[in-house]
Amino acid sequence: MGDIEVVRLRAGNGGIVREGSAHIAIRVSLSFEEAVLSAKDSEAEITFDPETSNPHFSFIEDDGKRHEVWFLDGVTAFNEIHAADAYRPAGYAVWRLGSEDPTIWSVLQQNYGVQAPGALHRIGMSEDIDFEGEGELLRVGDAPAEGARTFEVDGDTGQIVDEKYSAVPTPFVIQRSGDLPGKIALTFDDGPSPYTSQVLDRLQRYEAKATFFVIGRLAQAQPELLQRIETAGHTLGNHTYDHRSLRGLTEEAFDQAVEETQVVLGEHTSKCLRPPYGSTDAHTVAYAAKLGYALVLWTVDPRDWRRPGAAVIARHVVTHAAPGAIVVLHDGGGDRSQTVAALEIILRQLTAQGYHFAALCQEGGHG
Ligand SMILES: [Zn+2]
Repeated sequence: MGDIEVVRLRAGNGGIVREGSAHIAIRVSLSFEEAVLSAKDSEAEITFDPETSNPHFSFIEDDGKRHEVWFLDGVTAFNEIHAADAYRPAGYAVWRLGSEDPTIWSVLQQNYGVQAPGALHRIGMSEDIDFEGEGELLRVGDAPAEGARTFEVDGDTGQIVDEKYSAVPTPFVIQRSGDLPGKIALTFDDGPSPYTSQVLDRLQRYEAKATFFVIGRLAQAQPELLQRIETAGHTLGNHTYDHRSLRGLTEEAFDQAVEETQVVLGEHTSKCLRPPYGSTDAHTVAYAAKLGYALVLWTVDPRDWRRPGAAVIARHVVTHAAPGAIVVLHDGGGDRSQTVAALEIILRQLTAQGYHFAALCQEGGHG
């Protein structure tokens, strides 16, 4: 090996790295995770090419296109650093952060000349979410799983001369659904409140069904109202006990926030959860799935809680209405007279346009 000016470690695939090259400049088009997932999806075997000391796989796509993928991982990073150790480099730059094989961190910041670390065997899972499908109902398809590899070290040089992936790390797979052909889903959050009855009256007049995501703490004191919502054919959904953001909660705190409302709703409850503020992350979706809940977001938000005027609220909903739309409105959390007035306009105008209004998350029906 000649003089090294720069050693750049790039995780990701997209180029061929030649043996002995001190400058490693490759086109990064996929992250490490995307690369190994595409190997998994195409059922291609990842092999270690002894010529280039690079992991590699190839597959033929449905359209007949052949893909040759060469990528860098924790093993190639180790080999590069191990080879460079003789030159005692002051440091390394990792580019692009977030696209690397997470095991790369086990080979950085080590003493010169150390052996290949055992930590290269386990490839941690990512926090990324892989969404499949369309719609605002989120359910967990696959939970994340760690990857694993074995490798072989040359006793003389200390270089890794072979590696095998026995499993590739997989992210959360979240399936989206929620298509309501020809129908619109009106949803009401943050109730029940004194405005809930007024909302129910208007829905009844237009034979519209809706979904009420109630706050457990408020619902507790109003069993008759819950009964009325259910008897009218609407759905009762869970909006947590005290409207706390579910993001970043421990699983225990999450379960408590959801299950306390479930207890209040009893047999009336659907298995749909609307996260307060719409804030979700991979953990939120996974914890919800464990409790049997789908998360329901929305597609149309007139921000009625800001009280911009009934006409403004109604106009926003009417102009954004489309088959399958999920509209978020609020029947609680403050003075909702504008929302009630807007609802009258929304129901009248959209009914005239031929729309029907459906409840979400009903047995044998949607979701
Ligand atoms: Zn809310």
